[in-house]
Amino acid sequence: MSQPNVLLLGPPGAGKGTQSSNVVDEYGVDHVTTGDALRANKDMETAHGAPREYMEAGELVPDPVVNEIVQAAIEAADGFVLDGYPRNIAQAEYLDGIADLDLVALLEVPREELIARLSGRRICADCGANYHVEFDPPAKAGVCDRCGGDLVQRDDDDEETVEERLDVFAANTRPVVEYYDEAGELVRIDGEGSPEEVWTGLHEEIEAAT
Ligand code: AMP
Repeated sequence: MSQPNVLLLGPPGAGKGTQSSNVVDEYGVDHVTTGDALRANKDMETAHGAPREYMEAGELVPDPVVNEIVQAAIEAADGFVLDGYPRNIAQAEYLDGIADLDLVALLEVPREELIARLSGRRICADCGANYHVEFDPPAKAGVCDRCGGDLVQRDDDDEETVEERLDVFAANTRPVVEYYDEAGELVRIDGEGSPEEVWTGLHEEIEAAT
């Protein structure tokens, strides 16, 4: 059997990164995430300027830039979990032309919970491990348990930018959710439980779809 092609949808802070890691560990697929790819190339020169300008404002990076990143990653993958893309209808239509999806899953989490999760999130500058100052603190404040690296806040996880990112999701990416829903392809997953509970639900859906 070929490896699954999974699309994870959900607002910033819904747990797409955490659940993507579970999919990668379980199925050995590639994690294709535009957010990480863009963060690693913030100052890349493009015909539309550098991604940094858009990202630091919480806005979407122009479609041609992200479409190209995703197409290259998908073509190189044997199975994937896609996270952070598509974020508008034009990207969803582009994706239709380049991939067959086995499962489109939406992680649902209320806005208040998302704000609390994102504004308290801290990331290891060295190994990328995720923490939360309240819900998942490291043993020693500001220091990564895994590798001893410094824990930092993502530039766009300050409260003002978080609000903007959630508004951008509501305006641009909600229609993407409706797009898959109307096509009868969308599966909704309660994203409010523990990471383990959410994974149980997602895992069952992937098994049922493949
Ligand atoms: P994320 O890590 O997925 O929350 O993405 C962080 C930022 O990267 C977003 O706020 C956007 O500025 C940019 N970005 C990530 N994915 C996309 C995408 N599919 N389309 C446009 N911009 C994106």
